[in-house]
Amino acid sequence: MKHNCLFQKEEINRGLLDFLDKSPVSFYAVSNMRQMLDAAGAERLLEGTRWELEPGGMYYVTRNDSALIAFRLPADGDANGSGTMAGFQIIASHCDSPFFKIKTNAQITSEKNYLTLNIEKYGGMICESWFDRPLSAAGRIVVRTPEGVETRLVCIDRDLLIIPHLAIHMNREVNDGYKINVQKDMMPLFAGVSADADAAQTADGAFLQLIAEEGGVRAQDILDTDLYLYSRVRGTMLGLHNEYLASGRLDDLQCAFASLKGFLAAEVGSSIAVHCVYDNEEVGSGSKQGAASTFLKDVLHRINAALGGDEETYQQRLVNSFVISADNAHAVHPNYTEKADPTNRPVLNGGIVIKYNASQKYTTDAVSGAIFREICEAAEVPVQTFWNRSDQTGGSTLGNISTSQVAVNSVDIGLPQLAMHSSYELTGAEDTVRLVKAAAIFYAASLESRGDGNYRLTMCE
Ligand code: ZN
Repeated sequence: MKHNCLFQKEEINRGLLDFLDKSPVSFYAVSNMRQMLDAAGAERLLEGTRWELEPGGMYYVTRNDSALIAFRLPADGDANGSGTMAGFQIIASHCDSPFFKIKTNAQITSEKNYLTLNIEKYGGMICESWFDRPLSAAGRIVVRTPEGVETRLVCIDRDLLIIPHLAIHMNREVNDGYKINVQKDMMPLFAGVSADADAAQTADGAFLQLIAEEGGVRAQDILDTDLYLYSRVRGTMLGLHNEYLASGRLDDLQCAFASLKGFLAAEVGSSIAVHCVYDNEEVGSGSKQGAASTFLKDVLHRINAALGGDEETYQQRLVNSFVISADNAHAVHPNYTEKADPTNRPVLNGGIVIKYNASQKYTTDAVSGAIFREICEAAEVPVQTFWNRSDQTGGSTLGNISTSQVAVNSVDIGLPQLAMHSSYELTGAEDTVRLVKAAAIFYAASLESRGDGNYRLTMCE
């Protein structure tokens, strides 16, 4: 590893908080990762142009501006130490989070002097956590220009919207559990309009007008939008020793950020290091930029081809490859200890969590679990294990979806957290550093296997 100072808890977690605050939606997470890669000297590749790759070079490519794959080639290009094909050392995470998409024709006038916005759920969030807090809008607009159709990122960087609760006096069940109807209960309040008819008319396009101004375009030139609500509550470190980190979007930007920090800190090894961040995990990964797409496979094929390889060398590389699917994990909740498995009980700041599931919703098996434990041992990082209680079905993630496109040994891991899919989640500050360390070791390591059940893991000196 290059510099030990890269692994300071305070510095890494302050960096993470800054990244979280600047990344309200996946488009911004990708834009911020691009800046980090540019600053480190990575070269941007476009999917639509020919790739010329240099040994030792660092590159990245995006898809839909909402998914990103960065990679670094070994200094000697093609083969690892003993002459076998260099494999891909991949960490895959996702940069989308559950939130609300703002619909077309969003404005709803209510009682003549309220304007609310029409929204729809994106992913499975805890709806309750979106009430009574400042919100705003971010995403992208697609605009007509003299040169053609252009995408622009837009983020309204001020407190703009709020979803007010119904008062307890009008809902006496509010503390006893009640069903939330998104269409009825959750339209955010955007503006007060005058009862005057002309003013109401003018206000009708006020939201789009605001977005247009932010994007530096005329409202009539906006052809379409992908806009979302985001929570304005800033992340913070808390707890007696500042041991916790609370923020929106920790799932899964904590893993995406730690993976990239490890990628940038790693020594150049003899395998091909790949930092892969998908979009749309929260809605099943089925888009062209999701884990079910060919994005990773396409990029790996093109790397192999640029190194002068063919289908035969690609298949050999895959046998020497490894995927860490990094998506946050559930810690035991202090108020609901009975919800956790009796013998696998991860805690915040207890170390990286390896996730298991007999039905292979998680990709971990004995081989990939063992290899990951060796990585963590070398990084001097503790591991914990997660299994669902046998009477509960758990969530799903991107690992097994991704391996249907790129079939290599894969482990599912995550950083332990609480309040998953709340608009304000909680995690352990120590664990962020541990994933950065483990990622740095992993990216510099190389794996050799002939596919005969034996694996040789070589760590960088
Ligand atoms: Zn996730």
